[in-house]
Amino acid sequence: MARLHEYQGKALLSQHGLAIPKGLVITAADDAAPSLAAIGGSAVMKVQAWVTGRKALGGVRFVHTAEEATRAAADMLGMRFGLFPVQDVLVEELVDIERELFVSLTIDDAARAPLLLLDCAGGSGIEDRASAVARIPVSVTDGVDADLLRGVFADAGIEPGQHDALVTAIDTIVATAQSVEARSLEVNPLVVLKDGRVLAADCRVTIDDYAVFRHPELGIEIARELDHPPTALERIAYDIEQADHRGTFYFAQLPVEGVEVSSGLVGFHGAGGGGSMMSMDAVTNEGFTLANFCDTSGNPSVAKVYRAARIILAQPSLQGYFGSGSGVASQEQFHSAYGMAKAFNELGMTLPVVIRLGGNAEDRAVEILEDACAGLPATIEGYRKDDTPAFCAKRFTALVEASDGPTSSDLQRSVPAFVGSAAATSIAIDGGHVWIDTEHCDADLTGRMAGWSSGLLEDDGSGCPQLAVALEDAQAADSEFITCEVECLRAGRPVLFVDLPIAGLDGEDA
Ligand code: GDP
Ligand code: MN
Repeated sequence: MARLHEYQGKALLSQHGLAIPKGLVITAADDAAPSLAAIGGSAVMKVQAWVTGRKALGGVRFVHTAEEATRAAADMLGMRFGLFPVQDVLVEELVDIERELFVSLTIDDAARAPLLLLDCAGGSGIEDRASAVARIPVSVTDGVDADLLRGVFADAGIEPGQHDALVTAIDTIVATAQSVEARSLEVNPLVVLKDGRVLAADCRVTIDDYAVFRHPELGIEIARELDHPPTALERIAYDIEQADHRGTFYFAQLPVEGVEVSSGLVGFHGAGGGGSMMSMDAVTNEGFTLANFCDTSGNPSVAKVYRAARIILAQPSLQGYFGSGSGVASQEQFHSAYGMAKAFNELGMTLPVVIRLGGNAEDRAVEILEDACAGLPATIEGYRKDDTPAFCAKRFTALVEASDGPTSSDLQRSVPAFVGSAAATSIAIDGGHVWIDTEHCDADLTGRMAGWSSGLLEDDGSGCPQLAVALEDAQAADSEFITCEVECLRAGRPVLFVDLPIAGLDGEDA
């Protein structure tokens, strides 16, 4: 689920007519004092982070002077939650609270309908009082039954004079959630002030990932569960996923800064949910620290797996690359082997690699991976479904221990000299170019390239490969060309190269 920050959720509530405290968002400590002055001399300052119980963690502070505000802002902007840094602090007007209510609108999956959770005691500690929370059904067409609400308010001893304002507030919360297709919208607390006004004092919203595209106004960059604002690499990965719908590619970085690494930092490449989890456990049990989670599954294209491997290896300080997912994948595993083999060759891989390629055509996949990478400085081993994740993780430990310590920070992509040369033939494809070193082709190799490229190339009698299909048909054939590239490598005749620069990584736009 994509999440919004408190201040963003509050802005939505405010647009729909629910009052919120006056507030300003700052991103630098120097802005704290002016903001405090603008708000009226006293304020509550709150880190904007996706964690619960910020107050207990020092993420909610009350300030009354410019010095206090500056210090609080500096402290907060230096905080990390899940080791991801706080980037925004909300400076908000202090309000005189008489009563706090817990209001949460969620989707009840079993009932396939929205459900309102309401606790008139509200505030912190709500998690320990689950049984006291009223569960009120919400109609998609008619909203909440006001009489039901009034009954709950009366039982909690809320004076009737406050009921109307609270019913209106809850109606607004429901309407706001509906308008942005929220998966959940929680206001904890919804406060009644001493002067009788009702305000949203906190707000957490998650948006249904599949609805995000209908709401560009929310400015959500990545429609996925992330506990931190997207990193540069996650943005690049998401762009790749959005541009290529063949299979799925998911990439998220894990907090590593400040984490004590015992056995080493590892780039992880999973394929398929459950198997990936087991594999992550296996490599973690060996004492390794995972730098990321990545999944390529659902029949990903060769090009997508190639790009995933490149993204994983763009993370600094990795000491190895561990790939393992579902042991019985129905997708043909050699497509993944081709993609990874290309990435490892382009980078002149120096880090140890273990890839478990269990599933359909696994023997062929392992052979391709190991054979295509045989000339690289690193040891690269492929395994099959009968090799357990635990066994593969042990092999990985042995390889890392035997390695003399290169890290991914030293890796650099290189392309063959014939790329861009006037003597080479080039074919424009989606995302880049295919380059063919025609000078070093001959009739025999060209014949084989026709097969490796699934017939995209042919020998026109000159002994050099020519495009056998229309340009438009070649355009989307990145995967077939990569397959041909890797097979040329295996044959010891690297005459074809697919140049697919990754925007944001390779310093040029694809
Ligand atoms: P959370 O701990 O992350 O849920 O952060 P909240 O924004 O909900 O703040 C925690 C608590 O601080 C609330 O339940 C209130 O009790 C208190 N609080 C927040 N804003 C104000 C305010 O303006 N005035 C007063 N008196 N208390 C506040
Ligand atoms: Mn709260």
